[in-house]
Amino acid sequence: SRKLEGKIALVTGGAGGIGRATALAYMREGAKVAVADLDGAAARDVADEIVAAGGEALGLAADVSLSEDVEAMVAQVVARFGRLDIAFNNAGIEVEHEPLHKTDEAMFDHLMNVNVKGVWLCMKHEITQMLRQGHGGAIVNTASVGGLIGAPRQPIYGATKHAVVGMTKSAGLEYGRKGIRVNAVCPGIIRTEMTERAIAREPRRQQYIDQAHPIGRLGEADEIARAVVFLSSDDAAFVLGHPLAVDGGYTAR
Ligand code: NAD
Repeated sequence: SRKLEGKIALVTGGAGGIGRATALAYMREGAKVAVADLDGAAARDVADEIVAAGGEALGLAADVSLSEDVEAMVAQVVARFGRLDIAFNNAGIEVEHEPLHKTDEAMFDHLMNVNVKGVWLCMKHEITQMLRQGHGGAIVNTASVGGLIGAPRQPIYGATKHAVVGMTKSAGLEYGRKGIRVNAVCPGIIRTEMTERAIAREPRRQQYIDQAHPIGRLGEADEIARAVVFLSSDDAAFVLGHPLAVDGGYTAR
C-alpha cells in the first residue's frame, strides 16, 4: 500500500535535483504535491511531470528568504488542496568554496538568508497552518553532512546547515506533543546540478568527492528522496527531532 495516500505535501527547492526526486517520490506514494521554487517556470515543469504521471500537483514561484513569498506559498497550497500535511523544506544554496578568511559579507548574508532564514520562515508558516488544522503533520528540513561535521572550504554553508539541525531539534521538542514531527535529512554529496557546479568551479573537488564516501561513490537524488518519504510517513511515527544522515558513511569515520 502507498505510504502517503491522500496527503498534501509541499516541497521547496522543488525544481532542483533532490527536490524534484522527492516531489516525484511523494506522488508515487499517493500524495498531492505542491512544488515551489525560486524558478517558478521550472517548478511548474516538475508539477506538469507529476500530472503527466497521473498525480495531482501545483507549481509555484516562491523565494523562501522572503516572508511575503512564504506566506503566499502556504496560502496557495491551502487554497488549492484544502490543507497541508507534509512539508519538505529543501531549498538551499551553496555559494562559497573558500577558506573562511576569503569569504565575504555578501556570501554570508546570502547563505544565511536562504539556508537558515528560509527554513525558519517555512516552518513558521507551515506549523501555523498545521496547528490550525489540529491533525499534526510531518516536516523534513534538508541539512547536510556539513550540518553534522566540519565542511571543508564551506565554513558558512556548514554553519547554516548546523543551524538547520539545531532548529530541527528545537522545533521537534516544541511540537512533538501536537503530533507535528520535525526531522532533517543530512545528505552526503549527491549527483545534482549543485554538485556539478561545484566541481566546475573547483575541479580538484572531484577527487575529494570520490574519496569522501566510504561506500565508494556519490549518492543519487532518489536515495535521498526515499529517506525523506520515510521521515514524512507513519513509518517514522517515533522519529522526532532527528538529523538522519544519508551519506554513504561520510560521517561514520
Ligand atoms: P539544486 O541546486 O539542484 O536545487 C536547489 C533548488 O533550490 C533549485 O531549484 C533552486 O532554484 C532552488 N532555490 C535556490 N534558492 C532558493 C530560494 N531562495 N527560494 C526557493 N528556492 C530556491 O541542489 P540540490 O542538490 O537539489 O539541493 C537541495 C538541498 O540539498 C539544498 O538545501 C542543499 O544545500 C542540500 N544538499 C545538497 C547536497 C548535494 O550534494 N547536492 C548535499 C547536502 C545537502
